Amino acid sequence: MSGHLAAVGFHVFEETVSDTTAQMVASRVEEAAFAEATASDASDEAGLIRIYTARAGELLRAEAKKLGVPSRWGSGGDAGVTATEAELTSSGMLVGDEPASGGESETSSDEEELSALQRLVQKLALRKAEQEEGGEGEPSGEAEEDLEPLLSSFDVAGVAEYIKSGKCGNIIFMAGAGISVSAGIPDFRTPGTGLYDNLQKYDLPHPTAVFELDYFQENPAPFYLLAKELYPGQYPPTPTHHFVRLLHEKGLLLRCFTQNIDSLEAAAGLPHERIVAAHGNFDSARCLKGHPADVHRVREHVDRGEVMRCESCDGCDALVKPDIVFFGENLPERFARLVAEDFPKCDLLIVAGTSLAVHPFAGLINHPGEDVPRMLVNREKVGEMDESTRAIAKLIGRGTGFDFGETNRRDALHLGDCDAGFEELARLLGWEDELKALVEKGRAQTPVKERPS
Ligand SMILES: [Zn+2]
Repeated sequence: MSGHLAAVGFHVFEETVSDTTAQMVASRVEEAAFAEATASDASDEAGLIRIYTARAGELLRAEAKKLGVPSRWGSGGDAGVTATEAELTSSGMLVGDEPASGGESETSSDEEELSALQRLVQKLALRKAEQEEGGEGEPSGEAEEDLEPLLSSFDVAGVAEYIKSGKCGNIIFMAGAGISVSAGIPDFRTPGTGLYDNLQKYDLPHPTAVFELDYFQENPAPFYLLAKELYPGQYPPTPTHHFVRLLHEKGLLLRCFTQNIDSLEAAAGLPHERIVAAHGNFDSARCLKGHPADVHRVREHVDRGEVMRCESCDGCDALVKPDIVFFGENLPERFARLVAEDFPKCDLLIVAGTSLAVHPFAGLINHPGEDVPRMLVNREKVGEMDESTRAIAKLIGRGTGFDFGETNRRDALHLGDCDAGFEELARLLGWEDELKALVEKGRAQTPVKERPS
């Protein structure tokens, strides 16, 4: 999605899988290969690129095999540079239109193909650098030292001023678990919280096993217990959720991308079309063979602490799972579609309450243009890269994360509690009373469990 690899493109034939699936695969492969390259002990650029491209090549082939489709490298993508058809062909990347679908007979040996990929990635990096120097066609083409800061200060006050200036009307809000903590939603990853301790009686190999398909198939009980604890309707939205709703009411919110499965954005009154539940939620459920399940029946089972099996009439009997995205599963199609649609329009990105550890969600911070201000509201500083990681990211055309250092020109930071941060922002915007009223109204409404009738 963001790097040269995606620009070079992993083109799965469109008639076989959707464009968004292809995008998603490219993004996932890019992420995994990047993580391995930066975690490796290679110290020079050539070594890093070698690891990155080798791993990316392997993963792409594996993904294509998994999808049961022939793969090829093609042109396209949104990184601002693309390879020409001729370059792709001569580099050996562009396999003909009829590659062997069996996968074993390649037109070139693996090794040749990978070194060709290496050359191509380097070439694209060079071309991008030239474009930026020459200022041709790139909005960010000016020399770096001429760039004015995009915010008057890199804090809540600077962002408030930016919003008040009327320069933005398409704010994207990215939400993580941290914005729901003050609602009382238990963090199952933290030892000592009731939920984690409850899960421990199941002897989970590690806390996140509860979101792994293999584990779920053998032992679905811990997930059902977690579902009971987290089921929407038991917790009130927080001031942060109400602030997002205010952004919407003021006509400033383009979309709220959330990692949370608690549906508190909707509970705060944000319309469903404004919300992208990147990791799914409890609004729908299916059996592991894909049959849709009645969410009211699911709710009854969850309440009783019983594992549900498919009730479709053909005697399927597979385990039923709410549409929460487990590790290794693709994100909802809507996520990829709206990422592509929304981020080019984004004129302010607000990131709140997330450690930016889970991809591809975390990578979204790199999607707004380089002249778009961003703000992180979180207990810890996250999303920054160290110098060597930044170097390799640049080289392969990936975004370089937040920059709160000396070269910062657009990233505001509020370290601390999310609610405090957004209450402060609301005050500076003159929305204090409106936010208070929403929060009080929300608290007065004792959370009602949406019991199935
Ligand atoms: Zn079924």
